[in-house]
Amino acid sequence: MSITLRDVSFVYMPGTPYERTALKGINLTVERGEFVGVIGHTGSGKSTLVQHMNGLLRPTCGTVTVDGVDLAAKGEAARAVRRRVGMVFQYPEHQLFEETVFDDVAFGPRNLGLDAAEVEKRVRFAMEFVGLDFAAFARRSPFRLSGGQMRRVAIAGVIALKPDYLVLDEPSAGLDPRGRDEIFAGVLRLYAGTGMAVILVSHNMEEVARLVNRLVVMDRGEICLDGSPGDIFGRCRDKLLSAEVDVPAVTALLGRLRQGGLEVDAAALTTEEAARTIAAAVRRRGAC
Ligand code: ADP
Ligand code: MG
Repeated sequence: MSITLRDVSFVYMPGTPYERTALKGINLTVERGEFVGVIGHTGSGKSTLVQHMNGLLRPTCGTVTVDGVDLAAKGEAARAVRRRVGMVFQYPEHQLFEETVFDDVAFGPRNLGLDAAEVEKRVRFAMEFVGLDFAAFARRSPFRLSGGQMRRVAIAGVIALKPDYLVLDEPSAGLDPRGRDEIFAGVLRLYAGTGMAVILVSHNMEEVARLVNRLVVMDRGEICLDGSPGDIFGRCRDKLLSAEVDVPAVTALLGRLRQGGLEVDAAALTTEEAARTIAAAVRRRGAC
């Protein structure tokens, strides 16, 4: 069970003066149960890539399949698998429009034709996962909430569809640290609790490194790195630099220490791991 892109290339506005190749020869498989981070500088093709995963964009060349079904195919099978992929766009709160949080989250499930009891079950489930108390928020207007809360309502609307794959395009953009932490706590709970695949596009290297178990790095429409965060941040600094991706602050510090001759493990990702490897290296040096 996976989303698979095979030799996918995509050109915006082909044959016009604005023609722009946004993806080149992408090969990528995301299995259910994976938590994949997609990083890369602005314009590297991250949003274009993920919009291929639910058929919103059709590849100029190549194929995209979800659970073995080609998204470009006609008919009910392709429509059904497209619904397996939930997509949260950048600034999803701009798409809120109902009078209450309940109605906004219920919009998708109602469109699926589910009965009222099932709709309410879905809304409760989705609000709980994004950390919005049903009793406190269901009847409120989504437009009177904080930025972080509005975004969680928008994410709940996608979760209420119970997708097998959840794609989030820069879900923390423009939020303060607290709003960002709330979003990521919800996404982690959801990932741990449901076994769905999560594909997270992000600029914030620190959060990506901590959350995901696989990283895909985009550079000028191509995948230039694909592996675990520890390996990529610890051992591929030159490629990251050429892709103009900032490494997390701890990775930069450990790199500098190694350059200075201290034998630290450059793959450490959290402040705690970094402190441990630095302390161990200093002790070893003291013992010599
Ligand atoms: P990212 O999400 O990494 O910032 P995008 O996928 O948005 O990158 O963009 C990739 C490339 O495609 C960029 O060069 C961008 O200018 C171009 N592009 C994106 N959207 C459009 C569009 N709707 N029309 C034309 N070009 C676009
Ligand atoms: Mg983008």
